[in-house]
Amino acid sequence: MISRHVFRAAQPLKQVRKSPAPNLQSHLSPSRLRARFASTNYADQVPKEDLPSDFSQPIRHYASQPARSGASATFLYTLGAAAVAGGGYYAYSSNSGSKAPSPPQPSAIASAAKEKAAETISSTPNKAFTGGDQGFLSLKLESVEQVSHNTKRMRFSLPDSNDVSGMQVASALITKYKGPEMEKPVIRPYTPVSDEGERGYLDLLVKRYEGGPMSMHLHDMAPGQRLDFKGPIPKYPWDENKHDSIAMIAGGTGITPMYQLTRAIFNNPNDKTKVTLIFGNLTEEDILLKSEFADLENTYPQRFRAFYLLDNPPEDWQSGTKGHVHKELLKTVLPFEPKDGANGKIFVCGPPGLYKAVSGMKKSPQDQGELEGMLKELGYEKEQVYKF
Ligand SMILES: Cc1cc2nc3c(=O)[nH]c(=O)nc-3n(C[C@H](O)[C@H](O)[C@H](O)COP(=O)(O)OP(=O)(O)OC[C@H]3O[C@@H](n4cnc5c(N)ncnc54)[C@H](O)[C@@H]3O)c2cc1C
Repeated sequence: MISRHVFRAAQPLKQVRKSPAPNLQSHLSPSRLRARFASTNYADQVPKEDLPSDFSQPIRHYASQPARSGASATFLYTLGAAAVAGGGYYAYSSNSGSKAPSPPQPSAIASAAKEKAAETISSTPNKAFTGGDQGFLSLKLESVEQVSHNTKRMRFSLPDSNDVSGMQVASALITKYKGPEMEKPVIRPYTPVSDEGERGYLDLLVKRYEGGPMSMHLHDMAPGQRLDFKGPIPKYPWDENKHDSIAMIAGGTGITPMYQLTRAIFNNPNDKTKVTLIFGNLTEEDILLKSEFADLENTYPQRFRAFYLLDNPPEDWQSGTKGHVHKELLKTVLPFEPKDGANGKIFVCGPPGLYKAVSGMKKSPQDQGELEGMLKELGYEKEQVYKF
């Protein structure tokens, strides 16, 4: 029995079932998708005015998060510089007295190495995306990894190998593509799954929707090709401990903004926010980032819990329940009562059907619209909910 506010002891890491070979679209037929979800016409929803005029919001860097590529590179470079300096000193000592030309002074080598290190690993990296009137930035696709039967992880190079993306938490990027037959370009938002502190690249996790112009184009892209990006599009600005506890109700690729927020929270040792994830999918193979969330459940059993729902669970499935998000489940697992005065927030992201059932649709990217659906019926207020 699951009880509110109670976070269980650590569970053993759940095994993520390996996806079967590709060509498994059978359970994701376009008619099924269309029947379940109304069209997501983000091109209409992301007009120019959605692009923020003011990007003065502080960019959140994970000052206290564990070392990432930049930090470890600095460490390696320091080691390298020390080794070069040490080697120079050895060469200088062992050659003294011989007729060989004088080697460079060790201090000169060390300072050259330091200069090079400073050049290579700038302490304040450039932000590739600055918003405002920056316009679209064309990024080269560096590599592609097939992570499930219909999802690819796509790595795009930032303009400079020392750049960070400039993404805020939470924010998204919009992508633009115009095919030869298209009258107008198609524009869709994506939330990178790579850390904001990573230098030189960003990663997108992209699910392919049959008949979907952007996701099909992305899946057809080969390394070396380019895509137009713009952003960041600010979403819900996060500060450490902004809320005592949050719940995330996600469907399908609606998980990527949740993952961005979760990373910000758990990469920051000062942030003590408790997180409850409710994640609905069609089949087990559709659960994205499952091992990442399993790691969190295992590492932070007092602060992170995940509940999975599947339309078509395998017979022996033990990691969650069958069916869609329903009121009884929400009543049981949401970490705070509507009127208990808790400093909590509920985030919702997924296909239109999920929004309609759980929270009501957003009116536009700028207008959250009224709170409707299950959360309203349970007594939550508009201010307690954020629709990505
Ligand atoms: C803030 C935000 C962040 C997003 N981040 C990501 C991300 O990181 N990765 C990612 O793959 N997608 C993400 N999406 C969804 C993405 O923007 C596109 O909607 C999606 O890739 C489909 O675009 P498309 O042009 O291929 O298809 P569309 O023409 O938009 O849709 C094709 C068909 O698929 C259905 N469909 C569209 N989206 C969904 C969905 N999410 N679930 C179920 N059915 C759907 C439509 O109803 C339609 O029948 C995000 C959306 C938002 C609002």
